[in-house]
Amino acid sequence: MGTLIQNGIVVTAAGQQRADVLIEDELIVQVGAGIPAVEHQIVEATDLLVMPGGIDVHTHLDMPFGGTVSADDYRTGTIAAAVGGTTSVIDFALQSRGHTLREALDTWLAKSKDKACLDYSLHMAVTDLGTDGKSLSEMEEMVAEGISSFKLFMAYPNVLMIDDGLMFQVMQKAASINALCCIHAENGSAIDVVVAQYIAEGRTAPHFHAHSRSAKAEAEATHRAIALAEMTGCAVYIVHLSNEEALRELRHAQAHYSRALAETCTQYLVLSIEDQMPGKSWEEAKFVFTPPLREKRNQEPLWEALTDGSLSVVSTDHCPFRFADQKSLGKDDFTRIPNGGPGIENRLQILWHFGVNSGRLTPEKFVELCCTNPAKIFGMTQKGELKPGKDADVLLWDPNAEYTIQAATQCMATDYNMFEGWTVRGNASKVFSRGELVVDKGKWIGQTGRGRFIKRVANGGGTV
Ligand SMILES: [Zn+2]
Repeated sequence: MGTLIQNGIVVTAAGQQRADVLIEDELIVQVGAGIPAVEHQIVEATDLLVMPGGIDVHTHLDMPFGGTVSADDYRTGTIAAAVGGTTSVIDFALQSRGHTLREALDTWLAKSKDKACLDYSLHMAVTDLGTDGKSLSEMEEMVAEGISSFKLFMAYPNVLMIDDGLMFQVMQKAASINALCCIHAENGSAIDVVVAQYIAEGRTAPHFHAHSRSAKAEAEATHRAIALAEMTGCAVYIVHLSNEEALRELRHAQAHYSRALAETCTQYLVLSIEDQMPGKSWEEAKFVFTPPLREKRNQEPLWEALTDGSLSVVSTDHCPFRFADQKSLGKDDFTRIPNGGPGIENRLQILWHFGVNSGRLTPEKFVELCCTNPAKIFGMTQKGELKPGKDADVLLWDPNAEYTIQAATQCMATDYNMFEGWTVRGNASKVFSRGELVVDKGKWIGQTGRGRFIKRVANGGGTV
């Protein structure tokens, strides 16, 4: 006996059709019209869209930052993701300087153990080459463990930033093992000079965080990262691309280098420095994240880049901190405000409402950006598609459901929401993870700790 999702509109990146989806155990076994009901359990989906579960490839759960730890752990973070229609996440393990990649992996696997409620994977952030370049040989071990993407920071000097020589060596190694390099592209050295000058001048309010990190600094680093990648032949993926200038560099590179990919995040599509950070109040600390919010004029070019394929993925960079007792660490100095915002729960709602309802994106494009491309680029061979043999991670989406986003009713462990009070149309109705109904009517009903680590393949960002 299986579960038969009957009469929904099945939406994939390639098209839509009214069809049934048959799930047996953890897998999809059949997709098509008129699958016999026999003794299957029936899930009626006549008014719903049936899509692959969302994949959020950029999250920071239980992550130490700036003297505190991000507010969602693997339990609350993955439950919030699931309630919003996401069925897999890729989080980041961070190498501490002077320590090995293996230690970082062990640390993050311990954080997720018995807590992750959805299937999850990790990118490995390389911050130090180690003695005799040990990190480079460890990259092969990581790929064997199923970690096929490596994060490099061009920002945060003294903490996470690596110089160009180190980045180049990691890229050379990545090219040789078909791994993907994910880049936080901002010129951290220049930005830190501006930041220090602002603080010395007494410009300490939250919105100076945004003004101190220019779009040009992101564009410059985007150009440099892709140029170095191209010199080595490695596949490169720019994370959280936030503005038109950086986009111009990306497109320029993509015209001759097919292994240059990028994502943007929900917040850059709908929030802006004008609306959220006009420099009027301490409340603006809620929107201190990096890269910062940009001027509104950047939003439409980002939407266009999703449509034309320059940007391949929409993620969240979910890195939640509570306003009351965590953001407050930077009350008198924006450099001490923990960088990050909560968003894992609302990605699909926001993208559907402002993307599909507005006519900017087709439902097929929505699936491509949120589900199929993430699986393909990051080597998640069992995820991201509704096809026989794939994991039954299935999202039943109600395109007519109206939902008002509120911190008071959210699952994320923050005391605020970046989209507070917004009413959106389109929401998750039921969510299956490996065949199990884990979200019904907006409520998590699965077991804590049921999530499994996903071993990803090294496929050069889907380009090999
Ligand atoms: Zn991030």
